[in-house]
Amino acid sequence: MNHRQKTPTKSRVRPVRRCGCTLLLVLGLAVAAPPAGALTINASFVAAGSSFPNGNTATAAPTTTAGGGSLQGVFATAASYWEKAILSPGTVTIDFGWAGLTGNVLATTFTGGGTTSFIEFNSAGTSPLFLDATPAANSEYTTFTPSSANLGGGTVNTGRVFTGATGAASGRYDLLSVALHEIGHALGFTPSSGAPVVVTNPLPNAGTSIPTTTTGHIDITTAELYPSLPPSERKLLTGVDILGVAQLAGYKSVDLNPVPVPLPGALILMASGLAAFGTRLRLRRAA
Ligand SMILES: [Zn+2]
Repeated sequence: MNHRQKTPTKSRVRPVRRCGCTLLLVLGLAVAAPPAGALTINASFVAAGSSFPNGNTATAAPTTTAGGGSLQGVFATAASYWEKAILSPGTVTIDFGWAGLTGNVLATTFTGGGTTSFIEFNSAGTSPLFLDATPAANSEYTTFTPSSANLGGGTVNTGRVFTGATGAASGRYDLLSVALHEIGHALGFTPSSGAPVVVTNPLPNAGTSIPTTTTGHIDITTAELYPSLPPSERKLLTGVDILGVAQLAGYKSVDLNPVPVPLPGALILMASGLAAFGTRLRLRRAA
């Protein structure tokens, strides 16, 4: 996941597919529509054959994937985590897809300033990749290890790590973790000096000093925005990831324990017959 940042030099009109799914929501799922003013991520998949703004041509998914899921589904769950984490208003557009990248990278985020970024997931690598069909469930991992620390602003979560990978997750690199990491860059986590990011009011845990690397990452091994990811492991967003992004991007309100909206496929059976409740859940707001 070696992050590289590059300013796009061209902008092109590119065919995209927007997810405008709506779903009737039910029962014990006390999930509501995002709070008024919360962050909206407009994620658009760049189909094979279309061009990214940097001139790379999107490819099909590599043959090194397993798990039965799709990049679109995994990305939607990752975006949902971030939308639940950032409660301040804002709209960010992120194009994403597969592209043949050089070197030992899982993905690269390109930020051009403003609110539009694009993420290329490496389809040319040899690393085995896990595409979870139910990315919100974490069901392929047997062990969850949270961690926390006081970095100067009171105790804050610093790790939410799943290990004990089974089935298709075993021995493979988890693309949900990769997507969560890259979206963090796209939302604004791009420090370069290596100086700590210090959290300020009105964010919670003000005074927290988040250590960073000179490559624009958080220097805490369990953080999502740590520069590398081992196989057979899933990392979810931590408190320091959310505070770091919010501090650098200027978001004032956060939820340090976000829960994503499950994908439609995981809820389809649950949703049957529940329409009577009439609660409408928008998985992705239209642009
Ligand atoms: Zn990175």
